Amino acid sequence: MDPKTPVSQLSGIGKWYSQKLKRLEVKTLEDLIYHFPFRWDDFSTIANINNITPGEKLSIQGIVWKIQNIRTRMGKFVTLATIADQSGTIEVIWFNQPFLTKIIKAGMQISLAGKVEVEGSKPKLVSPSYEIIKSPDVPSYTTPGVSYVDTSGKGVSQTLHTGRLVPIYPETEGATSKWIRAKIAKYLPIYTKNLKDHLPKKIMEEEQLEKLESALKKIHFPKNYGEVSQAKLRLAFDELFLTQLMAILAKEKWKQNRKALPMTIDKSKILTLTKVLPFNLTDAQKRACREIAKDMQREIPMNRLLEGDVGSGKTVVAAIASYIAFLNGTDTLVAAPTEILTFQHQKTFEEILSPFKVTVGIWTGSRKIKGDITCGTHALLTTFKPQKQVGLVIVDEQHRFGTAQRAKLFMDQSGKLTPHLLTMTATPIPRTLALTLYGDLDLSVLDQMPTGRQKIATFVVPNNKRNDAYGFIEKEISAGRQAFIITPFVEPSETMATVKAATEEFTKLKKNFSKKVKLGLLHGRLKSKEKEKIINNFKNVKVDILVATPVVEVGIDVPNATIMMIESADRFGLAQLHQLRGRVGRGKYKSYCLLFTDSLQESSIGRLKSMERLQIGFELAEADLEMRGPGEIFGLKQSGFVDFKIASLSDHQLIEKTQKAAQKVANSDPTLKKYPLLAEKISQLSADYSQPN
Ligand code: ADP
Ligand code: MG
Repeated sequence: MDPKTPVSQLSGIGKWYSQKLKRLEVKTLEDLIYHFPFRWDDFSTIANINNITPGEKLSIQGIVWKIQNIRTRMGKFVTLATIADQSGTIEVIWFNQPFLTKIIKAGMQISLAGKVEVEGSKPKLVSPSYEIIKSPDVPSYTTPGVSYVDTSGKGVSQTLHTGRLVPIYPETEGATSKWIRAKIAKYLPIYTKNLKDHLPKKIMEEEQLEKLESALKKIHFPKNYGEVSQAKLRLAFDELFLTQLMAILAKEKWKQNRKALPMTIDKSKILTLTKVLPFNLTDAQKRACREIAKDMQREIPMNRLLEGDVGSGKTVVAAIASYIAFLNGTDTLVAAPTEILTFQHQKTFEEILSPFKVTVGIWTGSRKIKGDITCGTHALLTTFKPQKQVGLVIVDEQHRFGTAQRAKLFMDQSGKLTPHLLTMTATPIPRTLALTLYGDLDLSVLDQMPTGRQKIATFVVPNNKRNDAYGFIEKEISAGRQAFIITPFVEPSETMATVKAATEEFTKLKKNFSKKVKLGLLHGRLKSKEKEKIINNFKNVKVDILVATPVVEVGIDVPNATIMMIESADRFGLAQLHQLRGRVGRGKYKSYCLLFTDSLQESSIGRLKSMERLQIGFELAEADLEMRGPGEIFGLKQSGFVDFKIASLSDHQLIEKTQKAAQKVANSDPTLKKYPLLAEKISQLSADYSQPN
């Protein structure tokens, strides 16, 4: 069966379930097989009924003696059953599942898994999961498709949901872990039947890796935790190896196939520019400028990532690069993911460069003026036609642009020259990881903040202190300062539900402050004119509190703002919280970040507490990595460029190993002629990565 068969066409899944599975990003047979468990519950002990330890997780297997529903005084249903094995009998109880008596009947052989509780002196199995092993009506009943389940043990029969390490899956409403488990059990043998391994034999041997087929079986239905580790190692190796090989090959291709205009650097003119700036460049900024200038002098187009924490001063570096392009008679495009950021860039570039007769234009859905430098949104991709040769393309927060979209930006007019490319990101990924994730780019890191930056006092605020917090904000405002309030998180995108919740919150907030405090609401569904107006009002202190949805990019520089208050803070990744926090503390005033959460989970609170402790983006990213694992770093996952299911970005050893292996393959066979399966995997992966997100 084709791995890309849509799940809707698989028997036993169909349309309704495929809708549900979509939410788990399971669209094809292959996605289903790569929907991995996040946990395995150990129900492998099959206990004798007369010999069970209360509180332990275990399975029992026996005959159903009787089963009946009882209605409690409160009107609720309780299902009571008695199960017997050779050693004795035990009571089983389920709550509010009266339909069970239609499924489980006296005389059936059944397998149950759960925890035993003691009530009075009698042990009782409470709400166990169950599966029928043999039914008197259907004597040959077996669980479908689980022929590889271990039967060598003392188990009575082949079981899937009990009597083993039971895989627990990310589930969604309508598609429970049990249901998913059954479907994977059914389709795994079909998927793996003709599966060929794409990893080169030599690597498999050197690293002693599990075969792909076996790894997939073991990750879903391991006999023991040792098998889980073997499977994880192989699958993690795959993810890291493939990503890195893709990046290395892409880098080679970029070098070989493209030519740029080599630029000359007029040092004295650039020095003049830096002298006019109201500050001295940090050493990190100077280093980045040198690296960029060196790249731009070459015939191979620059493809460099400028990575730096919020507020580390990436824009001025970008402005200097664009000045170099200008001095060489070419135009620059600056692409940003949102209109708000675009306006901000236009203003900043103009401030820095207009004294040198450089014009800065803007290109968005609503406004179109061309300049020597043109700052724009996605509109640059669709409606913009350059006047002159584009010598430099700058992309801010690149992960929001798909590779395909970026490629379109580099397309030159003559068909011969590629612009130099500078990509900027504030996502604080440690250097080694950046090399993995962005292996196709050269890297400059601004690992130093401009001097005089203050710490932003950060507090996780319990709900009973909410009014105190509002009082504090009001006090700051009467002292002339301003605040941001990020409204509660509803959905990870700017849906109507998000906007509605924000509007309600806005109305509520207004009542919390005295009349003289002016609030403005910013959300992504506003027309760009309105957005701009609200932002300008905030900049000009006509608005004291800017209320914004979690989704809207508050990429604005307002040094007078001193408070960042965030609702549902637990829903954000630390990197994202840090970015939001970076909106304050930009001026000379003491600044604060207030984190609100309804979560009572210790782990969530603990994570938020690390915001109180840590001020540096890289450190927060590391902390987040340790606490949540890479796939869960919201900022990363949402941006779609890290989608590792198994590999841990904190596993430096494996990252290094896979990088070496990838480099070896790339060196010996850069076209992957000897490895057609690998070549196919890589081209699939590149296609996934270049989907706009
Ligand atoms: P980001 O890296 O987040 O894009 P910006 O480029 O917006 O940061 O810079 C943040 C603020 O820091 C701006 O107001 C900018 O003028 C200022 N800035 C940049 N570099 C320096 C520096 N070397 N010294 C002092 N302030 C600086
Ligand atoms: Mg910026």
